[in-house]
Parts: sequence; structure tokens; C-alpha cells
Amino acid sequence: MIRKGARRAAFLDRDGTIIEEVGYLDRPERVVFYPWTIDAIRALNRAGLAVVVVTNQSGIARGILDEALVEETHRHLSARLAAGGARVDAYYYCPHHPRGTVTPFARECDCRKPGRGLIDRAATDLGLDPARSFVVGDKWTDVQLAGAVGARAILVRTGGGAAEERRPVAGVAADAIVDNLAAAASWILSANRQ
Ligand SMILES: [Mg+2]
Ligand SMILES: [Zn+2]
Repeated sequence: MIRKGARRAAFLDRDGTIIEEVGYLDRPERVVFYPWTIDAIRALNRAGLAVVVVTNQSGIARGILDEALVEETHRHLSARLAAGGARVDAYYYCPHHPRGTVTPFARECDCRKPGRGLIDRAATDLGLDPARSFVVGDKWTDVQLAGAVGARAILVRTGGGAAEERRPVAGVAADAIVDNLAAAASWILSANRQ
């Protein structure tokens, strides 16, 4: 399934990594980019990496959000990025939660991070090689996701990341822990040259 010559990707968590963590993002106008996000994503674009957002949106299963709203939010993100010359190639979200209330999303699934389903779908759709790729996020579950697909993991201290750093999880280690997405992009660009 993974083709030879498949592209490298930067799989980016959304909330707490590219935009501020605001709880359930129930209106696109509540999006707040970190000041470095657009520059960081543009740098990844220019390096030839696919940039793919992978995000758990259990608010859908919980009845707080719906898919139309999540998709509207992603169009809003893309418009803001485009204005700064940056691009997310694709967005993948998990709408599920086993303790949700909304059919058909209230169930176990393979795509809620740290499950690898979102990355597997992206790899198939876009011709990516996860084992040569990078995952950036503010939670240990993002680091575990990287481990599941053989990618390198970068934990950022934005969002919940600083608190995660103070609460290590046995057997889960990031390849790098850095202050924010700008530093993560720099780390990826230097690793990408090797
Ligand atoms: Mg996050
Ligand atoms: Zn799911």
C-alpha cells in the first residue's frame, strides 16, 4: 500500500498546535492562530513536505459540534493560511468517541488518536510514507500516534504540551520536545535534509 518514492509529510495536530486550544471550537470565528503558525507551515510547504492536519473532534460524537462546522472551520483555516502563502494539503478528523451520544459517531474506532486510522487514510489518499514522516502535537497521544506509524514525534509546549512534559508517560518518548510549531518546523527541516 505504501508506494516507493511516496512523499514525506508533516502530520500536524490542530488544537494547541497550530491554533490556540479553546475547548470545543464551536464557531470558526473563535480560531486564534499562534503568531508563528503561518510562517511555519509555509516553510514546511517550501521544503516539499505534505502538510496534513490530523485532529480528534469528539465534540461531534458528544453532540457539541457537527461535521459541517468542523469542515467550515477547516475552510476558514485554509483561507487564512492562503492569505499568508501557506497551505494545508488535507485535513483528517476523528468524529468518534466511545462514550458519545450521537449516532453513528458514538463508538470505538481506529481513527481516534493515538489510533493510526487518520494517518493510514491520508497515506493512501495522498501517497505518503508515514515511516519517513513527522507528527507534531501537544499531547502524548500525538507522540504515541507517531510511534504507531513509525514516524518521528515532536511534542510542542503550546496547548497542553507544557503540562504533558511535566507528566511523562512510561514507554512514550518524543524525538524532540520544543517550544512551539516554529521550532518543530525548524527541527523537521533539519531532519529532512538528512
Ligand atoms: Mg492538541
Ligand atoms: Zn474515529
